[in-house]
Amino acid sequence: MSFRDLPLAERAGHLVGSVIDSSTSLLAKQTHDIVRFAMGAPAEEAVPVELFNSVPAAVYDASSYTYGATEGEPHLLDALTDYLATTADPTARERITITSGGMQGLDLACKIFVDPGDLVVVESPTYTNGSATAMSYGADLLEVPVDDDGMIIDELEALVAASGRTPKAIYTIPNFQNPSGTTLSLPRRKRLLELAHSWNSVIIDDDPYGLLRFEGEDLPTFNQLSPNDPLIFSVRTFSKILAPGLRVGWVETDPELQRLVINAKQAMDTCTNVPAQHLVAEFILRGGLDEHLNWLRREYHSRKEAMLASIDRHLGDRVRTTNPDGGFFLWVTLQGEDAKINSQRLFDIALAEGVAFIPGPALSPTGRFTDAFRLCFASCTPERIEVGIERLTSALDKARSE
Ligand code: PMP
Repeated sequence: MSFRDLPLAERAGHLVGSVIDSSTSLLAKQTHDIVRFAMGAPAEEAVPVELFNSVPAAVYDASSYTYGATEGEPHLLDALTDYLATTADPTARERITITSGGMQGLDLACKIFVDPGDLVVVESPTYTNGSATAMSYGADLLEVPVDDDGMIIDELEALVAASGRTPKAIYTIPNFQNPSGTTLSLPRRKRLLELAHSWNSVIIDDDPYGLLRFEGEDLPTFNQLSPNDPLIFSVRTFSKILAPGLRVGWVETDPELQRLVINAKQAMDTCTNVPAQHLVAEFILRGGLDEHLNWLRREYHSRKEAMLASIDRHLGDRVRTTNPDGGFFLWVTLQGEDAKINSQRLFDIALAEGVAFIPGPALSPTGRFTDAFRLCFASCTPERIEVGIERLTSALDKARSE
């Protein structure tokens, strides 16, 4: 009996894995110093460790370690609803289900809406963990290019028309998109809503970075543009604004649909980690979130500026980058002679030089963007960013002379 003889489900063949996540284990195995522009992880300095460590004694008792309600701890649901009421995008408590991170939100959306063979629209490039979730349910993916205003909706219409099918779901990251850093413009948001209605397609509105705008004005969310719209399935997370290891996120859905969300979650993990939910609730109740967000916005803004300045100094017009108004990522496209360098190969050389990023092909389900890569500016201080870009430049020089 060997692995080959196992009676695997057909869907096992669609479990493609994540280059992004695997980079964590790859980097953990390296023994030399590496500047980490790869993972989309918040800065270590941004994790409120002291406050977290002061919470357990104050709020945990035996009830914090038993099973919790599938929809989430009442304490957290209240705190989150009240917090969101202070933002431009409030929501009713009965629309919220607490999830094990944003990834579970994406899984729930796909589990509920996607049958094998359904067409699912994804941005190109995209967060491939999200597209992989749709693939794990047997979706056929339709990649729609992104420009500086997010998904190109004219292309979406043209590609859908050419496919002769209508999409079951449209997966979009509207703010400071992972990986391109671009934001879906207001006219495109409106048109996307119209198209979703004309096709009866669910919009999987994945927005982990929306609260991290450091320049410009917030744009209305899909929920603000079309309140209580059952076709909008919003996926949110505390991973980028608090700490990803907590694995706490939430989804906002139509209250009737929430029954299915809860049933699906019960078939996955019963409830989200209860102590972690208490920790997040306590953080919000102590009034720390606004101050924390302001700090993050300031810090990430200066890190983005530092990265752009460093790239300009060392690489000049050898690359073109996006210039995001928030979030974590820059998208870098090699120019001229350098465009012939495959970013996968560049990654290997760069790793040896002591800097890591995510190569473009890992951010497209069909491996496009060999001439591009994603840099996360959020995790490193400006000083480390400078070191990282110097190493990247020397990796590029080596790749070019191969
Ligand atoms: N969606 C996007 C666009 C992301 O960038 C991430 C995290 N990289 C997630 C979802 C997953 O979030 P979480 O870590 O909370 O599962």
